[in-house]
Amino acid sequence: MGMNADVYERLSVAKRVNGAGLLTRLGGSLMDSETLDAMREAAGAFVDIAELQTRAGATIARHTGTQAAIVTGGAAAALTLATAAAIARTDVALMERLPDTEGMANEVIIHRAHRTGYDHAIRAAGARLNEIGLNDRGVGAGVRDLEAWEIEAAIGPKTAAIAYTATEELRPSLKRVVAVAERFKLPVIVDAAAQLPPKENLRRFSEEGASLVAFSGGKAIRGPQGTGILCGREDLVASALIQMLDLDILPETWAPPEGLLARHFSDRFPHHGLGRGFKVDKESIVGLVVALERFVACDIEAGRASRRKLLANIAAGARELAHSRLLAIEEAHGKYPTLGIDIDAAALGLDVYAVSRALQRHDPPVHLSERRAWQSVLVIDSAGLREGDDEIVVAALRRVLR
Ligand SMILES: *Cc1c(COP(=O)(O)O)cnc(C)c1O
Repeated sequence: MGMNADVYERLSVAKRVNGAGLLTRLGGSLMDSETLDAMREAAGAFVDIAELQTRAGATIARHTGTQAAIVTGGAAAALTLATAAAIARTDVALMERLPDTEGMANEVIIHRAHRTGYDHAIRAAGARLNEIGLNDRGVGAGVRDLEAWEIEAAIGPKTAAIAYTATEELRPSLKRVVAVAERFKLPVIVDAAAQLPPKENLRRFSEEGASLVAFSGGKAIRGPQGTGILCGREDLVASALIQMLDLDILPETWAPPEGLLARHFSDRFPHHGLGRGFKVDKESIVGLVVALERFVACDIEAGRASRRKLLANIAAGARELAHSRLLAIEEAHGKYPTLGIDIDAAALGLDVYAVSRALQRHDPPVHLSERRAWQSVLVIDSAGLREGDDEIVVAALRRVLR
């Protein structure tokens, strides 16, 4: 516990090489010094959090092209708040009852193939999922997606919203889902947590008609790891915000900041709402705004070139490795490049999982993406790689695959 040891050494926590992507469990992403400086500055003054959220939200909304936005405690919290907003709308008496939704319109329609581990965040608001459609394309059994009539058949008096998980290909079509939702005046909530880059996606889902969109602030935006964005229709974003704020205030003295709260909650507000546990600190709100502005302004092309170089170095260093075959460097539209390593498990006498475990036990630990482990492929995702990590990855691969 030397005084000069860094914070992680003092806590006996290993610093890891991240070739797995921008993942919450590995610390999200790394903030740059401008973001950190802004957070330090934010820590030096008292502010009204409602006012800070309102002004920060107005800035974020300019970048997302939406009526309104707020900073949430991550994309998962944004989904819970979005659902709470869809169920309670601006009715403070309904807010007060959440997550008890008995007797309310509390069903959220979701396509079967859009269910993820994160839909727990939707259910946390008291919603019940109404799962519809088939997964023909997912299993290769057919060519069809969800059709309008299937959504219409599922909509009833209990329906509160339609949930949609954004992917690169946006199947079933978001526009088709939105067209039906609009006819029944239902909000569409889009989970776009990890759909950045490309930065055009900040606007894309709202432009296609989504009512609320959730992004992670701690992934590609490189904001504080605990943050997210909820953006969209003003009345719904206002509902989400009022359900998150500390409201131990007197109606007689409260002066709501000019903007979405003053427009929707000037004369009434609930007691602490469902989202009170998702508070976002002033440092993180400021940090996210600065990080977002830097994300919007940055030259992603230049960033990609240096990452491509790191992968090329790894490919060169790992070319002669036994028991493995390097796949081509891949670059999906607007995304950071990746490099797959096909592990010849039989020849190696170790399966791909043992290889991944051994890399994680290397000093320093190396994490590669396991999303194609089922194909015996480990993927090096360059999004989280830093200068010098290429040498460490090569050394770790040499040791494990020799
Ligand atoms: C990462 C992720 C989330 C959660 O984001 P947090 O900011 O960690 O709360 C939700 N949905 C999807 C699809 C994600 O990839």
